[in-house]
Amino acid sequence: MADPKGFLTHDRELPARRPVDVRISDWHEVYEDFSAEKLTKQASRCMDCGIPFCHNGCPLGNLIPEWNDLVHRTDWREAIERLHATNNFPEFTGRLCPAPCEAACVLGINADPVAIKRVEVEIIDRAFAEGWVTPRPPAARTGKRVAVVGSGPAGLAAAQQLTRAGHDVVVFERADRVGGLLRYGIPEFKMEKRHIERRLAQMRAEGTEFRTGVEVGVDITAAELRERFDAVVLSGGATQWRDLPVPGRELKGVYQAMEYLPLSNKVQEGDYAVSPVSAEGKHVVVIGGGDTGADCIGTAIRQGAASVTQLEIMPVPPRERPAGQPWPTFPILFKMESAHEELADRGGERVYAVSTTEFVGDADGNVRALRLVEVEGPQAGFKPIPGTEREIPAELVTLSMGFLGPEKGALLTDLAEVAGGDDFFDRRGNVARDKTYMSKVDGVFVAGDMGRGQSLIVWAIAEGRAAASGVDRYLSGETALPYPILPTARPLV
Ligand SMILES: Cc1cc2nc3c(=O)[nH]c(=O)nc-3n(C[C@H](O)[C@H](O)[C@H](O)COP(=O)(O)OP(=O)(O)OC[C@H]3O[C@@H](n4cnc5c(N)ncnc54)[C@H](O)[C@@H]3O)c2cc1C
Ligand code: SF4
Repeated sequence: MADPKGFLTHDRELPARRPVDVRISDWHEVYEDFSAEKLTKQASRCMDCGIPFCHNGCPLGNLIPEWNDLVHRTDWREAIERLHATNNFPEFTGRLCPAPCEAACVLGINADPVAIKRVEVEIIDRAFAEGWVTPRPPAARTGKRVAVVGSGPAGLAAAQQLTRAGHDVVVFERADRVGGLLRYGIPEFKMEKRHIERRLAQMRAEGTEFRTGVEVGVDITAAELRERFDAVVLSGGATQWRDLPVPGRELKGVYQAMEYLPLSNKVQEGDYAVSPVSAEGKHVVVIGGGDTGADCIGTAIRQGAASVTQLEIMPVPPRERPAGQPWPTFPILFKMESAHEELADRGGERVYAVSTTEFVGDADGNVRALRLVEVEGPQAGFKPIPGTEREIPAELVTLSMGFLGPEKGALLTDLAEVAGGDDFFDRRGNVARDKTYMSKVDGVFVAGDMGRGQSLIVWAIAEGRAAASGVDRYLSGETALPYPILPTARPLV
């Protein structure tokens, strides 16, 4: 503990967001730079607790007090070593994680928690800038071949760990670019895609091979894959979206968030000059009050929407921890993400406790309005409140109401058949796995959203690392790869 009084002398401080007017006129990340001097003060707030709850809050078991101390002492080189020891991609989590570690920080019991996520991202950004993130190819090759299906954070983490363990790893991705939801779900203003590119350069130099535009189950069957590879990691995500089957759903202009957001990301990649589904000049309604909804808001505003309204069926969440969600659990609170700030600035609204009853179309089959009704809370089964029906303008609607698990396409149905029954899937419809992350099919492992359902990047990386450890032991009889998920760790979010 470098500064025993750090938490008494310094308040929590985060970098400012760029002014709304400025940031919505481009697609760059929203935060201003943060000086090294300010950051070391933030790191010095860490109390180096005897029982650091932040560790347990983090699914990766990040060694948070250690790197806080190293940053305070400006030993950045050692700090990145400690950070990389548990996390392959801190540049993703440092920007995108909701930070269950901060919710669990002991300082958070009666004061503002340590700015752990900011310290994390500054360590990795500096490491890249200084040229310290170099390829780490294995000293020896095993001659074993591993196929990884899907290139989101789970697949990338598994692939990097297995390549470094000496196996020949091929990552198959059906999209035209590598990255999963990091690439085509998360907008540029939350994480610029250059961060993926520089990490992929490291992975390629280490020997990981990527094959894009290949849908496993269609372009190459599950049987062929098992024949050609000694082990397989399934990390295809939970891409089956929840729909809203109300009258008018078929109208033009009603899209799933994951039909809308990737097109915008493709504009940033240079594939289109303008998104084929643009919000420009339109009244936009975003259905779903979560993070995906926030991404739709920020995207629609940058595209020049005439108005944006967000609808949520749940009541407004509390602003402070309610008694039922005590420290160190991850609380569900009212959030003011950058996109919400932009929405408020543009005069848009977040409307809670409402349910959509119908989409209304014009003579050409385009959506022009949305009918909604106020509802009672979840305990009352979201019962409509009579007399509260109303219509709002809606020329573009995005549905961001969550995901139901992995798609049951050719890949998973073929493997389920090999497994000889429905128990290939768990009760929630995700791919079932044992403690080593192996599915019911010998040599076929599963990591990330495909096994745990819709979740978080930090969990995907943790599971990719854990599954890699299982694969390595399966192929080699033993493993030096860490198995980062502690037996006591439970999903907090
Ligand atoms: C819009 C949006 C925003 C989000 N924002 C955040 C955030 O800010 N922070 C956070 O922590 N989490 C966020 N999440 C959740 C997070 O992105 C996911 O939990 C995480 O990406 C899951 O990683 P994964 O590797 O398991 O799967 P994914 O990232 O979903 O990657 C799966 C990949 O597998 C590919 N694939 C699927 N089937 C096949 C096949 N048969 N053959 C070949 N390839 C296949 C898919 O094309 C995809 O590229 C967000 C999710 C969405 C939808
Ligand atoms: S719980 Fe908070 S104060 Fe304690 S070691 Fe972790 S980051 Fe530091």
